[in-house]
Amino acid sequence: MKKMLRIMSLLFVIAAVIFAAGCAEKGGEGAAEGAAEENAPVGETSNTGGNASTEEMPTYIVGTEAQFPPFEIVDSKGNVIGFDVDLMNAIAEDQGFKVQYLDQDFAGLIPALQTGNIDIIASGMTISDEREEQVDFSEPYITAGLALAVPVDNEEIKSIDDLKGKTVSVQTGSTGFIKAEELKKAGVIAEIKDFPHVNEAIEEVKIGGADAMINDLPVTEAFIAAQPGVIKIVGEPLNSESYGFAVRTGNTELLQKINTGLENVKSSGKYDELLTNLPKYMEE
Ligand code: GLN
Repeated sequence: MKKMLRIMSLLFVIAAVIFAAGCAEKGGEGAAEGAAEENAPVGETSNTGGNASTEEMPTYIVGTEAQFPPFEIVDSKGNVIGFDVDLMNAIAEDQGFKVQYLDQDFAGLIPALQTGNIDIIASGMTISDEREEQVDFSEPYITAGLALAVPVDNEEIKSIDDLKGKTVSVQTGSTGFIKAEELKKAGVIAEIKDFPHVNEAIEEVKIGGADAMINDLPVTEAFIAAQPGVIKIVGEPLNSESYGFAVRTGNTELLQKINTGLENVKSSGKYDELLTNLPKYMEE
């Protein structure tokens, strides 16, 4: 199992690296103005560094739903960690701003951004046309896609073709939820059960309240890695999706910082380094 797990983690990393390599072509210009290249760590909560330049840095509140490994999770000390956090911290360091993470339900992130409670969404959020109408997205920073999962001992459901009349669990407000709605409208699945967090959607499958779950593939893989023998992924990925960081519509100043930081982090090799750390968040 452990071996399998490592292979799966590796496959994901390889896929992500290929994607990153493709994107790196676009980036690559020199350092942005004010870019700090020193290695001072940017904490996962607001930085308490005492030097003058740090104090002048703006602090942005980053909203995230931190039950979404390997992208964001809460560690045993209560800190938000994960790939999105590492990447956002690197961007913040590059662009000279501080970040403070606010953990909240996924479905509330866009409203929180719109009302000004948060400044950035970093939450494995898929870039979609529908969401583009409500927020502004950064350039994509990684690709993922949806996958179908069923109880480990289920031999009946092998792909979405076998979902006729079935109940499917999903996370509220996620692209998995939207996919399930499409399948329900098309007369395929009978019922959708949605939950604020992925682990609750998995739990529903575990207790037999749902026949299957639709969720982001790397995240389902991470849950399986942490808790083997409960669910398994079946069939091919249902699609391919790109994650982006989101800011309030029209907040071009911050969007530019994020995009420039992302380019710099990619061209410096830091992004690839962070990708190699990603599997460690799979087994938390
Ligand atoms: N990528 C999915 C979406 O954007 C799920 C994200 C999440 O739950 N954090 O809807």
